[in-house]
Amino acid sequence: MNGNEIIHAEAVTTDTIENSLTDQKKVRLDVLRLDKIHPVVSGNKWFKLQYYTGDAVNKGYTTLLTFGGSYSNHIAATAYAAKTLGLNAVGVIRGEAPKQWSHTLQEAHACQMQLVFLPRNEYDAIKKNVHTTKFEAQFGKAYIIPEGGYGLPGVQGAADMLHSTDTSNYTHIVSAVGTGTTIAGIIQATEPHQQVTGISVMKNNLGLNDEIQSLLNTSLPGRFRLIHDYHFGGYAKYTPALTGWMNRFYHASTIPLDFVYTAKMMYGIFDLMEKDFFRPRSRILAIHSGGLQGNRSLAPGVLVF
Ligand SMILES: *Cc1c(COP(=O)(O)O)cnc(C)c1O
Repeated sequence: MNGNEIIHAEAVTTDTIENSLTDQKKVRLDVLRLDKIHPVVSGNKWFKLQYYTGDAVNKGYTTLLTFGGSYSNHIAATAYAAKTLGLNAVGVIRGEAPKQWSHTLQEAHACQMQLVFLPRNEYDAIKKNVHTTKFEAQFGKAYIIPEGGYGLPGVQGAADMLHSTDTSNYTHIVSAVGTGTTIAGIIQATEPHQQVTGISVMKNNLGLNDEIQSLLNTSLPGRFRLIHDYHFGGYAKYTPALTGWMNRFYHASTIPLDFVYTAKMMYGIFDLMEKDFFRPRSRILAIHSGGLQGNRSLAPGVLVF
């Protein structure tokens, strides 16, 4: 059992967005709805996990151990995947235990993930150089998955996102970028005639190009562009302008976006269209990488969906 039975690959659709802007600019904009594969293990996080979990099972591990923040989609996805695969899971969480647990942490806990809270400085030191012995005493031998699924198995898994359907006709593939693992997989899975555009969701994360480079065994191709203009204040930050835009986008398209990643990507695509970043007759594929569970941390009523 490799866990593929928990996702609904058949539910993925490619939705076309048509409006006055796409008409005026003469571009085609499609959205690859990977958010539909699963409500919790949605989008890119499942793809990034699959080679890690496969390797863990093959090597006979019974416990997965990984890292993330209180709102991490990766923590939620790992907890759910482990539960489904019959594995134990440990989530090392950045920062002291909060008084009120986020929905993400509650969800992970409901999947029987054991949560360990580490002060930020300790967490930051340990996630880069994991001393498994520290955790082995407490949890036994565990298979370590880096924070966010960052690493070569994550890249390989992300590349599979584009193998589920024929994407060779698109001139541009656009995705939100956090750790860079997903976009590295997209670069790997695309062809020389395709432009790959990453929208960084962090403020001035200028080391990101190097991080992405180190995940590829070739140098970054000229057809890749990383854009830093749509972070809305930084990671998981947002403004009423962004949430208002998400609501209008939902009304027009019935596609829900998450405020941490996909809303910033889609807002960026519209602004880039406006600025003629995409030539007429471009065929753009936007990756809806999921993450909708994170919207539950917004106050009720902020979003209309
Ligand atoms: C984690 C995440 C990303 C970013 O993926 P990276 O591989 O870390 O760059 C994009 N979209 C969603 C919804 C995510 O949860």
